[in-house]
Amino acid sequence: MLTLDEALGRLLAHARRTDGETVALADALGRVLVEPKVVATVDVPPFANSAMDGYAVRSTDTPGRLQVVGESAAGARDVPDVGARSAVAIATGAPLPAGADAVVPIEQVDELDGAVVVPERVHPGAHVRAAGHDTAAGDELCLRGELTPARIAVLASLGLGRVEVRRRPRVAILSTGDELVAPGEPLGPGQIHDANSASLAAAVTEAGGEPIVLARVPDQAVPTEEAMIDAARRGDLVVTSGGVSVGRRDHVRGVLERHGSLDFWRIAVQPGKPLAVGTLDGAPVIGLPGNPVSALVTFELFVRPFIRTMLDLGDDGRVRVRATPTQRMAKDPTRRAFLRVIVSREDGAIRAAPAGGQASSQLRPMAGANALLVVPEGSDAADPAATYEAIVLAPIPLTSP
Ligand code: AMP
Ligand code: MG
Repeated sequence: MLTLDEALGRLLAHARRTDGETVALADALGRVLVEPKVVATVDVPPFANSAMDGYAVRSTDTPGRLQVVGESAAGARDVPDVGARSAVAIATGAPLPAGADAVVPIEQVDELDGAVVVPERVHPGAHVRAAGHDTAAGDELCLRGELTPARIAVLASLGLGRVEVRRRPRVAILSTGDELVAPGEPLGPGQIHDANSASLAAAVTEAGGEPIVLARVPDQAVPTEEAMIDAARRGDLVVTSGGVSVGRRDHVRGVLERHGSLDFWRIAVQPGKPLAVGTLDGAPVIGLPGNPVSALVTFELFVRPFIRTMLDLGDDGRVRVRATPTQRMAKDPTRRAFLRVIVSREDGAIRAAPAGGQASSQLRPMAGANALLVVPEGSDAADPAATYEAIVLAPIPLTSP
C-alpha cells in the first residue's frame, strides 16, 4: 500500500494544465486567469472626483460664505471652475472642478440664497478621491486563484470586458456495477440507486471541472473496456467508480493493465483503500472505490487536487483547522483515516464530534459532516486528549449543534 503523500505525488505528476479560453467577465466567476499578473493601463478612478454629495471648494476659502457658481453631476463633461470664494455643487463620483481642492459634505453646510456657509475649516484633499487612488496606470496586480466577485470588479474597473481563463478540465465519469439503477427508476431485486454518478458530477463542478457523466457500465470486461476507452477520448481525466477491488467481477484495473498502464493501486487511507491510478490512451484515469463515502472522500483527496492542478491552482482550496475529538473514534492503525465529523467552536477550542457512523457505506454522516478529521497511520483511534488536522468542507458553527 502506498501512503497518501506518495500516491498524491505520483498522481499529480500526470496533471497537465488546460489551455486558455476567452470568456465575458459576466461568466468569469470561479474561473482562473491564464495570466494572473495584470498590468493596469488606466488610472482607477480615471479622474479626481468627489467622495460625497456636497460642495467643491478651495480649502483656503474656508470657513466662509461661498457663492454657488454651478454644478458637477456624475458623468458631467463641462464643469465650471471654482474660483475665489465660490463653490460648485457636486455629486458623489462627479469630476472635481478645476480650482477646487476639497469637498464639504452637504450635511456640514448651510445653504441660502445661492450661497453656502461653510462653518469650519476644510482640509485640502478632504473627501476627494485622487485619480488612480485605487489603481494607478502601470500598477501590477496579482489575481492568482479563482475569480471572486471582487476580483471581477477590479478587472471591470480596469476596463477589461473579456478575460482569458483556463478551460475547465473535462472529467469523464463512469460508474460501474450490475446493481446500479438511475435515481428516479424503480428498483428490482438486488438493485440499488446509483449515488456516485450524481455525487461525483457535483464534486467535479465544485472543484472547477466540467463533468461528463457517461452511461453506467455492467461488471463485464468488454463493456468496461469499451466504456473506459470512450471515456479516455472524451475527458482530460477519467474518473471511474467501483469495480476496482479484488472481486471476480472488478474489471477497471484489468483494463488499465491490458490497454493502458496501471501506475499504482491500494492506498493507505480509510475509507478508500482500493483506489487505482493509471493512464489509458494518454488520459489519466483515477479509479475510485464504489462505496459512496469512499468515492467522495477519495475524490476529495485525489481528484479535487488533480483538477485544481490542471487549473494551475496551487492548493486544494480547503481551510484546515486543528480540532480535538469529543470522544474516542476507532480506526484502522495501518491507514490514515478521514473521519466524518462536525467541528464547532466552543470556549475558544475547536471540537470534532462524529457526524454519525463511520462505515464507508453510510452516506448520511458524510452529508451532515462539515469536516474530515485526519487521524494518522499508526494510531488505532482518534484520541480526545490530542488534536488533529481537520479539512473543513462547510462552515463551522459557533457552538456544537
Ligand atoms: P465496488 O467498489 O464496486 O466493489 O462497490 C463497493 C460497494 O459500493 C458495493 O456495495 C456497491 O454496491 C456500492 N456501490 C458501487 N457503486 C455505487 C454507486 N454508483 N452508487 C451507490 N453505491 C455504489
Ligand atoms: Mg462493483
